[in-house]
Formats: sequence, C-alpha cells, structure tokens
Amino acid sequence: MAARHSEQFLREQLNRQDFLRKHPVQIAGISCMDGRTKLSAIFGLRFGFIRRQWRTLAGVVDLGAPRFRASVDNWRSYAKQNDQDSLVFVSYHYSGRNDAQLGCRGHHHNKDRALAAALKIYEQFVRVYGETMPCPVVIGIDTDFETVYVHDQKGSIIDASSFVNQPEADIVECLAGGFPSMPKTVLEVLALAVKGNAVHTSGLKAAKRPIEEAQHHEYALVVGEGMWTEPNSAIVVGPYTLDFGESIGVAAGLLSDNFDKGRANGNDPVLLSCAVFRDSEIARRGAIEEARCFLDYSQQVIAKQVPDFAKRLIYHASVLDLNNRLVELV
Ligand SMILES: [Zn+2]
Repeated sequence: MAARHSEQFLREQLNRQDFLRKHPVQIAGISCMDGRTKLSAIFGLRFGFIRRQWRTLAGVVDLGAPRFRASVDNWRSYAKQNDQDSLVFVSYHYSGRNDAQLGCRGHHHNKDRALAAALKIYEQFVRVYGETMPCPVVIGIDTDFETVYVHDQKGSIIDASSFVNQPEADIVECLAGGFPSMPKTVLEVLALAVKGNAVHTSGLKAAKRPIEEAQHHEYALVVGEGMWTEPNSAIVVGPYTLDFGESIGVAAGLLSDNFDKGRANGNDPVLLSCAVFRDSEIARRGAIEEARCFLDYSQQVIAKQVPDFAKRLIYHASVLDLNNRLVELV
C-alpha cells in the first residue's frame, strides 16, 4: 500500500507543483487519530495536497507541547522558505445520525466537547501566530456522509455541501464575508477544499452509504505519521501530546475492539511506527532511531495496557521520506 502511495505521490508531482504555482498555500490539518478522519479523502483533494496531518487521541493537541510546536514551526518555515502561505484545518468529528455510538470516542461521543476542544486549539493558534501564517480554520466532520461544516470567524457554521453546484469564484466571495482577514490566496484554497467536500459528500449521500460503512473498520495502529494510509484502515497516533503513551494504550484498546467485534474486514492486526525525514542521510538515520524508539515504547505500553492484544499484533518500524512519500521498513 505504501509503495503504491509513493508512486501516486510522484505521479502527482507535476500536478502538485502546478497547483502550488497557482495557489501558493501549504495545507495541513489537525484531526483525531480515528481512521475515518482522513482529511485528503474528505476534501476530495488529490493525494499529497495536504502536506501534514497531525493526529492524536480526540484530535487534541497543544502548542505548548514541545514536539507539536516544533512540528508546526517546521512546516510553517518550509512554507515561508518557498514563499507560500499556510492553512491549517482544526477538525473535530461526530455522527449526525448516531453520535452516541459513532461519534468521537476520545470525547466520550459528545459533539459539544469535541467542538470546544477544537475551538480551544484555534484560539491557541490565534494567540501564538496572530495575523501571520498559518490561517487556522475550525471544521466539523459529520462522519455519516463525511460532510464538512466550516466555522467562520463570525461564528457562522457553513455546510460545505450547500456549495455543490456553485462555481469556485462564488464560494470564495461567500467565504470572504466570514473570513474578513484571510488573504485571497488562502480563501481560494479553502474554497477548493469546500467544493471538493461538497462533491465528495454528495456522492456518498446519493449512493445512500449505509451506516455500517461509517463504523470503525481500522486494522492497523500507526504510531507517528500515517499520511500514506487509506481512509478507515488505520488509527494514527502522533507524538504531539504530553500523554502520548496513554494515547497509544487507548488506541490499541480501540483497535482490539474492532477485532473483537469482527469489523477488521479479515485483516491481521498491525502496529507500525513511522518517523518522517527530508533531504539528508543524517535526517534519515535520525528518523530510523525515532521509529525504533516509538516501536519499543509502543510495545511496552501495549504489553502493559492490553496484554492479550499485544501478543496478536504484528510489529514493524518504518520511515517516510517527505520528498517522495516512500515508506521504508527499518
Ligand atoms: Zn475521534
């Protein structure tokens, strides 16, 4: 799967460069570790257009946590060096039809709690970065049909699916009213994402996607970065919180539950640690150490917290080259 993704990433290289020439904006997102919150799929954006997705238990991150701040600053500097603006989606998720069962388990299936956490992260970005980049935008994802709701700066909630038949220029104009301080370059990218979701969610609604498909079906646990994973195949926990270990234990418990309830579609349970690097052999070697460190740590945590499941998991460490998205087992 990883090799296929790298091929796809490289195939899309020219498209991506062309896109960045027309829209010089780096896009990133913060989301729950939940496999159903894969932002590129939800926005119908082609593979690789979302450059970073920071994923944690319940999507809760803290710019005060050193590892998260470093990762955001690294991404932000990369955008600046390339004369690009940056946009970060701060997402929360819920189920419009059955939140008590299909909502965010990290927030005890409580949509209000999930939203409050996203707003807190948004405010933290505003406090730290102010009028500079990145532009944070809060979005709610109703996982039933993967519909995005954009929270604008004036407190309105915009249903992306309402734009399905609108040209992008009209969407930009409409969004501009709710984001008065957002540069046009970023507004245009936000409009593309909104339009992408409108098309994506309309397709799922038209096909009357059954509620069972909106259920959890993950069979893998990725500790670190999981950019290459398919939607609803992996729970992804990044090292961006101070209670990273606790989150790994909770994630393993949730994955175990998928196997107990027969929702893993016949796959074997896998734990893959994954660290990223860019540009140099020393960076690659550092990432290998990081991936092995994550793997050892995850094994210890899971052996303690979910001992029976720990014995069933197949363990691998891997590194991912950000320049070509190639995943290498190490
Ligand atoms: Zn969640």
